[in-house]
Amino acid sequence: MLARDGHEVTLLERDPAPVPETLEEAWEVWDRGGVSQFRLAHFLHARASDVIAREFPDIREAMIAAEAAVVDNIARLPDEITGPRRPVDDRLVTLTARRTTIEQIFGATADAEPQLEVRRGVAVDGLLTGPSAGGAVPHVAGVRLAGGEELRADLVVDAMGRRSPLPKWLEALGCAPVAEEAEDSGFIYYGRFFRAADGGSVPQPIGSMLAPIGSFSVLTLPSDQRTWSVTLFVSAGDQPLKALRNVEAWTALVDACPLHAHWLDGEPITDVMAMGGVLDRHRRFFTDDGPVATGVAAVADAWACTNPSLGRGISLGLWHAARLRDVVREELDDPLEFADAWDHMTEREFAPWYRSTVATDRARLAEIEALRNGLEPPGPADFESGLEAALFRTLAYDPELLRAGLEMTGCLALPQEVFARPGVVDKIVELAEAHPPSPIPGPTREELLRLVAEPAGA
Ligand SMILES: Cc1cc2nc3c(=O)[nH]c(=O)nc-3n(C[C@H](O)[C@H](O)[C@H](O)COP(=O)(O)OP(=O)(O)OC[C@H]3O[C@@H](n4cnc5c(N)ncnc54)[C@H](O)[C@@H]3O)c2cc1C
Repeated sequence: MLARDGHEVTLLERDPAPVPETLEEAWEVWDRGGVSQFRLAHFLHARASDVIAREFPDIREAMIAAEAAVVDNIARLPDEITGPRRPVDDRLVTLTARRTTIEQIFGATADAEPQLEVRRGVAVDGLLTGPSAGGAVPHVAGVRLAGGEELRADLVVDAMGRRSPLPKWLEALGCAPVAEEAEDSGFIYYGRFFRAADGGSVPQPIGSMLAPIGSFSVLTLPSDQRTWSVTLFVSAGDQPLKALRNVEAWTALVDACPLHAHWLDGEPITDVMAMGGVLDRHRRFFTDDGPVATGVAAVADAWACTNPSLGRGISLGLWHAARLRDVVREELDDPLEFADAWDHMTEREFAPWYRSTVATDRARLAEIEALRNGLEPPGPADFESGLEAALFRTLAYDPELLRAGLEMTGCLALPQEVFARPGVVDKIVELAEAHPPSPIPGPTREELLRLVAEPAGA
């Protein structure tokens, strides 16, 4: 986006492997050690599709050519629920694909981009300083590479992901400490990819793609080239469910979920892949005295990352990058103004997404912990959380609320934006009272424990 806006950009990527020629190669052999979730389930929400359509029509075309899955929830639901199609509904549609496919397309586009030099197999090792842009605040004027080479730039963008060492590097320059909050929301993910058999079809979702069922959740995500993923996620503390790493236990549990078993009707193209220990982490490079440094901006996961239970990382990251381009347009010439504008925009527009995601994860984990210990799940932490839960119970009863819920899951509108709309809160409360929660069908805790123990040969 910065290169297309007229800047000369150098992109430094530590992983040495070139972008594979084909999507199949990307899936089968591309070594992306820098992204440990590379072959795990990924979903692009409507926000990502919106940014891609506006900023990268060529990438959108390439995704369509790659048979990216088109998810149009309004089209798939019955007319009695959706009402007549509205012009705004097109914004709720998303194009999604496997991470390997998304990266192959973005990578090939980047490699061909004029004004963008992509250097792979080049690790950044630290920061260079230049004359301060204001008072005692250190100014970052470039990066030092692992081999000792130095590169100078008007702006250093940290896109090193969730493990970015930027705070450490800034501290080494004598900057004020970066304010960091982090917690492990405590989920483990067990996912497997499938492909439709020759002549077979891609399963259609029944209900929501994310389904909480007692002490586990099921995530069913359509992907490109007639592939899809099924992911079960559980509390990391739930020892018996560690058996889900075993393919028989995993299959038995999906098979026992009446609204999800049909997602097993395909050819498995991976084993069950497990991942846990994923932190929610937010960084702020700004104190009461101003920015901790100038000349540097952390974007996407390097700024804040969350557990992937809601699959928001890329959608918010792409959008954050688009907003970076906007702030660069306005403020690049004045490093202090830039640092100020970047921090304030990020905190105003993106931090609420971080907090909302963490609140949702905490609530679900508290529910799981209670259920697996035979306790009554705790009520919502606050009025807004209760309202959000109630909204998702009432989607089927009101076309307005349905669209509001899809805007929220699509990262298009925050809960607080939706609740501020006239009449929305009253409508949610009224409908939620008329429609008590109805659990998604699936095994009871006892059945669940039996299911995962027996096939595992316990
Ligand atoms: C299990 C799992 C499932 C997920 N599912 C989804 C989903 O469904 N939808 C979604 O939107 N998001 C999902 N996410 C989140 C998503 O993967 C991240 O939000 C996204 O990858 C962040 O992009 P990024 O560019 O900020 O960082 P990354 O994708 O982590 O990229 C960082 C890059 O920096 C490179 N790098 C690191 N250090 C250096 C260095 N010193 N020098 C040079 N290069 C360096 C790395 O090699 C890497 O290529 C998931 C995450 C996990 C863990």
